[in-house]
Amino acid sequence: MSITTATGQAETSAGSTSQDNPIFNELEFPPDPDNLYRQTVGQVLEATEMLGLPHRVQVIVAQPKNEIMVHFPVRMDDGHHRLFKGYRVQHNNALGPYKGGIRYHPAVHLDDIKALALLMTMKCSLSRLPLGGSKGGVKCDPRALSPGELQRVTRRFTSAIMNEIGPDYDIPAPDVGSNAQVMAWMADTYMMSQSAATSVDGRRVVTGKPVEFGGSLGREKATGQGVVDVLVEMLPDEGIPIEGMRVSLIGFGNVGSWAARILEDYGAKVVAVMDHTGALRNDEGLDCHALAAHVGQTGGITGFDTAGAVSGGGRHTVKGATPITEDEFYQTPVDVLIPAAMEQMIQEKQAAMIDCKVVAEAANAPTTPAGDRALQAKGVEILPAILCNSGGVTVSYFEWVQNKSNVIWDEETVDRELNKHMVMAARRAKVARQRFECDMRTAAYIAALDHIGRVYAVRGIFP
Ligand code: NAD
Repeated sequence: MSITTATGQAETSAGSTSQDNPIFNELEFPPDPDNLYRQTVGQVLEATEMLGLPHRVQVIVAQPKNEIMVHFPVRMDDGHHRLFKGYRVQHNNALGPYKGGIRYHPAVHLDDIKALALLMTMKCSLSRLPLGGSKGGVKCDPRALSPGELQRVTRRFTSAIMNEIGPDYDIPAPDVGSNAQVMAWMADTYMMSQSAATSVDGRRVVTGKPVEFGGSLGREKATGQGVVDVLVEMLPDEGIPIEGMRVSLIGFGNVGSWAARILEDYGAKVVAVMDHTGALRNDEGLDCHALAAHVGQTGGITGFDTAGAVSGGGRHTVKGATPITEDEFYQTPVDVLIPAAMEQMIQEKQAAMIDCKVVAEAANAPTTPAGDRALQAKGVEILPAILCNSGGVTVSYFEWVQNKSNVIWDEETVDRELNKHMVMAARRAKVARQRFECDMRTAAYIAALDHIGRVYAVRGIFP
């Protein structure tokens, strides 16, 4: 496989580093170096320069097309009304309809959503999906809402952004704090607003739906499965066999728990896990199936050490676990560390403690630029998020295709097609790394931007 660059006219702003790009001034970016959007755009712009993309494409990818912010009232269970803030950011649709998750979290901010939307554009392009990038969210704590309140928040938010989404325009999916049930409410609300003749097809407006309501088999585990598919493709280059490999994970929600369970089934030892409730270690290998069941019942990993839960299903697992501190978690020696929680968790301080050979970014933007530099200085290979966690959007795309053509794929077909996409995305990034002699993150961005650059080159810029 080969990759050639979509070279543009020599309009690039040469000589800048990722965090002091002149385009920041031109587009009046916030000066804060800790701003996630600035950090993400900085890394993407560095890749555009290495690729030689024209200035016009650089500025287009540096800003989203649309930033939608809504405020909407919801009646709470005690009868009072609370005003919620919601976002939908549509970054780019050069490759196809906007596509991206909906996050429910108290710390949702516009610039974070913008960064996540940009990453969706990059992810879809790296995987060559005919989709663009978007992201949305509601500033709320879903754990503090009753099921009825959660449903009313979801329906009212969907209603507020009704004219901004659509099955062939912008297609939401689950993210942190939302799930298949939330997607079912979103789809139902959208369908109720359509004419009877178009209502059924309207369910394509979201993916990640429950299987009985048009969801795809294999979607729930898809992101975790994709992380594992990337590791299977990439780890031979690092000389790390999956069998017996030591793994730790930050986050044991959808993505983390599925990656952990699949790795355990493949023969790896998951020796440490941390989530928002605490951290656990077991050098013989945690029983991740039992731990996932415990998290399903209690909402977090804490208490697993005393719960006595054990499935006996894992090949390297023994009963129990020892609670450890956050610092002890980071210091645990492993072959592969999988961040699968929130953004910006691996900063310089954590990077200094981390003792691993590979970081596989299952979460979006888990490593700050300073954390990235510190890890690279220690010789750690970082497999970037737009590669590692693209399994979710890939199977979302499969769901959308199945809904559009009224067919149902069996799980074997989903897993096989997913694996093909993950392997091809990994190889595109590897080829770009060889060609440009850069790190994997920059290489993955280059492979993604090359595709987008070519589309702009043939389409031109209207008028
Ligand atoms: P989730 O809500 O199911 O799980 C999040 C996990 O992070 C939980 O285990 C939680 O305890 C943990 N966490 C939160 N704050 C923490 C903290 N301060 N310290 C330690 N752990 C903490 O979410 P998810 O769907 O698994 O998503 C995880 C990441 O993967 C996010 O970055 C998300 O954007 C990304 N992602 C998800 C999907 C998907 O299909 N769900 C797809 C692509 C990317």
